[in-house]
Amino acid sequence: MGYIESTLNLAKQSNCPSDSNFFQALKEVLESVRPLIARHPEYLEKKIIPRIAFANKEVKFTIEWLNDNNEIEINSGYRVQFNNALGPYKGGTRFHPSVSPDILKFLAFEQTFKNALTGMHIGGAKGGADFNPKGRSDMEIMKFCQAFMNSFYNVVGNDIDVLGGDIGVGEREIGYIFGQYKRLTNSYKSIITSKPITLGGSLGRASATGYGLIYFTNTLLEDIGMTLKGKICTVSGAGNVAIHAIQKLYDMGAIPVTCSDSHGAIHDPNGIDVDLLKQIKLVERVDLSHYAKRRNGSKFVSKDDYIDGSNFVWQVPCCGAFPCATQNELDLVAAKTLVENGVKMIAEGANMPTTADAIDYFREKEILFAPAKAANAGGVAVSVLEMAQNNSHNYFTSQEVDKKLHHIMSNIYTGIKQTCDEYDLGMDLIGGANILGFKRVADAMIAQGV
Ligand code: NDP
Repeated sequence: MGYIESTLNLAKQSNCPSDSNFFQALKEVLESVRPLIARHPEYLEKKIIPRIAFANKEVKFTIEWLNDNNEIEINSGYRVQFNNALGPYKGGTRFHPSVSPDILKFLAFEQTFKNALTGMHIGGAKGGADFNPKGRSDMEIMKFCQAFMNSFYNVVGNDIDVLGGDIGVGEREIGYIFGQYKRLTNSYKSIITSKPITLGGSLGRASATGYGLIYFTNTLLEDIGMTLKGKICTVSGAGNVAIHAIQKLYDMGAIPVTCSDSHGAIHDPNGIDVDLLKQIKLVERVDLSHYAKRRNGSKFVSKDDYIDGSNFVWQVPCCGAFPCATQNELDLVAAKTLVENGVKMIAEGANMPTTADAIDYFREKEILFAPAKAANAGGVAVSVLEMAQNNSHNYFTSQEVDKKLHHIMSNIYTGIKQTCDEYDLGMDLIGGANILGFKRVADAMIAQGV
């Protein structure tokens, strides 16, 4: 039995057999690194493969809190500290009813290699709770965030494990989580990033993942003599990543014509109105059907009317597709429609938004593919700038942050492309990203001994 099969079997024995997202991510990375292992027998001798496939620590805790009716509610919280060979654990926090150990393990695993690709010294982690913030009052959000931090404040630390935002956790939630940490520990340590500016957040952090995604895409296209100028693009999601990706697509001269949320999708052939989108999703916090009611020429397609359950945005003909909502949201049905309609490139803003069979299909059709662990690394990179400025009591201007972000995204692309060339992978950026990220983590593990 080969090392991939034996590691997957081992992982299946010691994890829950239904951990399908985690196994999907693990299998992709292990299959990609075959050529690396062939050149580095020391990784087998030092048992790097099974060691890298297991989380260092998984913490589960119960969150008890009082809602507005003074009733006790109970949620489950988790933190997966996957690997800290390169630096303190670092990764976001997700509040969503779908949060489970499987989802967080896959996100923490991916985060480990993503963080390595930035070239910065951070390890990989992810956490969150199965709490649904939708429809909750501000007071309930605050109480939940405080109870969340009460349950595990002793697990995090400025040079141990630094949290961040993710789905359902924006500046408001981060402010409350940070405030509770400060009260409990009497310290103003930077244990969470993406903070509001007034609490020491970084200028440009909110936009970093979306902008970084488009900087990465632009560098890739320039390298092969293409441009985003004048190109029709489709985007899914209507949250932090999607909104800023749409904004930056305009800056690059592209025309983003779709977005979506958990209720349905918008097609606006004249180009998404970013101000209206922000008003609806960030200020009024209502669903996207309200966009179509206020914008002539646009249409809303309810989720119930999606064909075979596949997001409507992928049926809109485009040159570039940018999945920016959630995992496994772009499936084989969508991939076939996109290819039929002439798509040239996919760039992942969300984490693992493309299913494994859809990726295989894009590979077979030689569609350019920018994988999440590279293309959406801008957010965590700017979070490290936030940590640096908090620790040094210094700060960067928004121009400085944007310049550094642009530089980091170009460097990530260059590193991956060089790896592709070194291993004869052509434009297989998934393979290049997995090999480069894996190598950096593996070398750091070996350098530290066991
Ligand atoms: P937000 O919560 O701000 O937005 C998520 C968007 O996706 C919302 O519009 C939401 O709809 C929609 N969505 C979420 N789950 C589903 C679902 N199951 N089906 C349909 N639509 C869904 O999150 P972010 O924009 O921050 O994150 C989006 C993705 O990007 C995630 O995969 C995240 O892990 C990844 N990411 C985020 C980073 C960041 O800096 N924020 C960094 C790197 C990766 P609705 O509005 O109805 O809730």
